[in-house]
Amino acid sequence: MGQVYYKTSEEIAIIQVNCMLVSKTLAYVGSLLKPGVTGAFVDAKAEEFIRDHDALPGFKNLYGFPSTLCISLNEGVVHGIPSDIEFKDDDIVSVDCGVYNNEFFGDAAFTFAFPEVSDETMDLLHTTNQSLYLGIEQARSGNRIGDISNAIQHHCERVNGYGIVRELVGHGLGRNLHEGPEVPNFGSRGRGHKMQEGLVIAIEPMVNMGKRHVKQSDDGWTIVTRDGKPSAHFEHTIAVTDGEPIILSDHSIVEEALKNNAEIKNFSIKK
Ligand code: MG
Ligand code: MG
Repeated sequence: MGQVYYKTSEEIAIIQVNCMLVSKTLAYVGSLLKPGVTGAFVDAKAEEFIRDHDALPGFKNLYGFPSTLCISLNEGVVHGIPSDIEFKDDDIVSVDCGVYNNEFFGDAAFTFAFPEVSDETMDLLHTTNQSLYLGIEQARSGNRIGDISNAIQHHCERVNGYGIVRELVGHGLGRNLHEGPEVPNFGSRGRGHKMQEGLVIAIEPMVNMGKRHVKQSDDGWTIVTRDGKPSAHFEHTIAVTDGEPIILSDHSIVEEALKNNAEIKNFSIKK
């Protein structure tokens, strides 16, 4: 994934503005979602929203990806291409969004749930989201990436019996969407890159209801679970400081948007 670049506080401030625009875009997406709406519609609205804020969609045309959002339904893990398929009242919808502005990126993701999603699947979403914050707690100067990885893996696999995807990982972020270090969602405490103040990383657990194994679908992009069971994905971009990590994106505004949309389940971000 390449070189590790430490950021100045000025650079982190730019990334924070970008990540907040990502969060506002996810909140906007959350306000648009209802059964019958398509991913392609939501994607077009998200692109318009980002451009109206004088930024560029971060994913579009990167590595040849065709869209503003990655929208991955149900057994889709990540990298789904927004399509003309209508959302159903029992879908879970993972939306990953990036923006680019002032020479830096921003990146975050949220999994939305329609009203008929089962309690079992809601537990998967809650656990995945909890593991994101458990990972973030470990993102401290002097700690190692493996401390983040292990916190996420322990909570999802050991405590809750889910499968952690191995093939896709979190990443450093800055002038590139993907920089070093890799931030796996599995690993050993005390191993990996030693974090210092100024490191900016995207932490993004991808957690499967069933087994951890995934495959690429026929569209050449979407990663799906091999067993066809659902998968959840939550992501924040954070900055390592000499104290508490700073979460540069903000899911609480997404949660606020859901409270005003009766067509989507409310989602309490910290349980
Ligand atoms: Mg992302
Ligand atoms: Mg990412």
